[in-house]
Amino acid sequence: MTRYIIEPSVPASLPIRGSDERFPVRRVYCVGRNYAAHTIEMGGDPNREVPFFFQKNPDDLLTGGTDFPYPDKSNDVHHEIEMIVALHKGGANIQLEAALDHVWGYGVALDMTRRDLQGECKKAGRPWEIGKAFDHSAPASELVPVSEAGHPTDGAIWLKVNGDIRQQGDLNQMIWKVPEIIAYLSGLFTLAPGDLILSGTPSGVGPVERGDQLDGHIDGVGDLHCKVV
Ligand code: MN
Repeated sequence: MTRYIIEPSVPASLPIRGSDERFPVRRVYCVGRNYAAHTIEMGGDPNREVPFFFQKNPDDLLTGGTDFPYPDKSNDVHHEIEMIVALHKGGANIQLEAALDHVWGYGVALDMTRRDLQGECKKAGRPWEIGKAFDHSAPASELVPVSEAGHPTDGAIWLKVNGDIRQQGDLNQMIWKVPEIIAYLSGLFTLAPGDLILSGTPSGVGPVERGDQLDGHIDGVGDLHCKVV
């Protein structure tokens, strides 16, 4: 048995609907600009750009409806509602036809973003970590297994802030569908059981303030509730 000089971290994990078992998380990949209307609102051209990837840290996940603490060093924190794809099998260069066999289940997440810091990074040509991968930056729902949810390819995805609809789209508006994301991502990184993919956000992203109540929903997948404090 390996002896460590300090106590190793407990792995991050997500709750599972209707179960007391949890889904252990290895990595959190995120897709940027995967809905055309959001690409346009961020100043891009969906006809000329392909989606791209960045990562958050597993311990950025915020579960169980825990409050989202407004982070330091930003005055412009944005919400991005996204579908989680949770993998129970890994591999490199996964074929498109086999991609969905790697999916254990789905969930709802918020890719919270320090937009002002992300903007400074973009301008300076620097990495995005400080804008994207900060503490508690990924509030997440329970996961629902494929045996219950199937593989959702269409259905509403929306986010309400204090009861008002701010983001609204349909899963069928994804530029890269889930199998394409898995196939492409597995060419860049060897995927492994426990990896999550946040599959991009529809349009309508915007700032949150302390006291805001965030309620997200994806048809057939679930709901996410989170308060900004
Ligand atoms: Mn995002």
